[in-house]
Amino acid sequence: MVSKRTTPTEKLLRWYRQSKRDLPWRRNVTPYRVWISEIMLQQTQVDTVIPYYKRFLNRFPSVKALAEADIDDVLPLWSGLGYYRRARSLHRAAGIIHNDFKGRFPKDYDEALSLPGIGPYTASAVLSIAFNQGYVVLDGNVERVMSRWLAVREDPRKPATKNFFQEELLQLLPPGHASDFNQALMELGALICSPKSPRCADCPLQNTCKAFKEGNPTRYPNKPPRKKQVPVTLRVGVIRHGSELYLERYSTDAKEAPPYLKGIWVFPSVELEGNQDPQEGETVLRSHLQKELGLNKLPRATPLGSIKHSITFRKISVEVGLFDLENQKKPSSSKNEEREVVWTKVEALKSDFGIASLTKKILKVYEKNT
Ligand code: SF4
Repeated sequence: MVSKRTTPTEKLLRWYRQSKRDLPWRRNVTPYRVWISEIMLQQTQVDTVIPYYKRFLNRFPSVKALAEADIDDVLPLWSGLGYYRRARSLHRAAGIIHNDFKGRFPKDYDEALSLPGIGPYTASAVLSIAFNQGYVVLDGNVERVMSRWLAVREDPRKPATKNFFQEELLQLLPPGHASDFNQALMELGALICSPKSPRCADCPLQNTCKAFKEGNPTRYPNKPPRKKQVPVTLRVGVIRHGSELYLERYSTDAKEAPPYLKGIWVFPSVELEGNQDPQEGETVLRSHLQKELGLNKLPRATPLGSIKHSITFRKISVEVGLFDLENQKKPSSSKNEEREVVWTKVEALKSDFGIASLTKKILKVYEKNT
């Protein structure tokens, strides 16, 4: 009698069904819930995402609820997750799904891809996980597992390597089980085949893993170091009038703001070049604020402190100063096409605005030192 050998895919699926984490988006699986989770999980760890996901789903339990909400009600629930562009695209896509797709996430790949914020990865993830369609997904975890399992020395971020992995995965994909298969590989990368200390003894792929056989799995994946972060100095002015602070929000296509300050509520600031004299920076900031607020005179800034902040390719040193306008008339709004402005109390700022972590850090410095 010929005994049937268990394939690596079968082992992987068996392991997944026994070991998978009980994550909120794995309960009551719907395309909407999977879509929200996939967008939140981009660039963000599972543990960080869980409380955000629960709050978001509680407030916007359906495409309709999200589509009908104002973006200013959506952003506060994203506050702290970063990459606000994701929340804006999500909101726009919900409007399109609600209006053009009768409120249902499209089952067609090209239609899914036509939605804002949805690229090939997210389209494949939602269609495979929610509808079990035969697409494979290739996130960082899967790239690492594949690089090690097949001992691939090429950079996994290169298109040719990605294509190779896609082809291999499509060969392995068990018909009718795309949802579990994709999640199993992602889960294996997250729980077992971790970047620094893979637990090969517990791995269902161990006896077919080439990197394990070679004895040094962590040499894979072979990724050249990322671009270095550029140091930047930001001089920030917290402008106070009575108990109110002044903030501005640049439109996402504004030309006069650096990319990382667009679309979020921020204190006014100027970005200094690496070799610019800090004193000169103070002058630039003052003239920027005078112009912005239509003031002839601005008191000298009281230094409040400095903080560090990192965003993708920038390492930002932030110098915070307070401009107290207590004896002056409150300046009128300097809103323009590229910029909204607001005067608000600290408590309202914390509760009603979707403030990003940079603004939160500056607010902390302000509260600690005033
Ligand atoms: Fe990763 Fe080790 Fe499993 Fe290979 S055997 S896939 S290196 S955990």
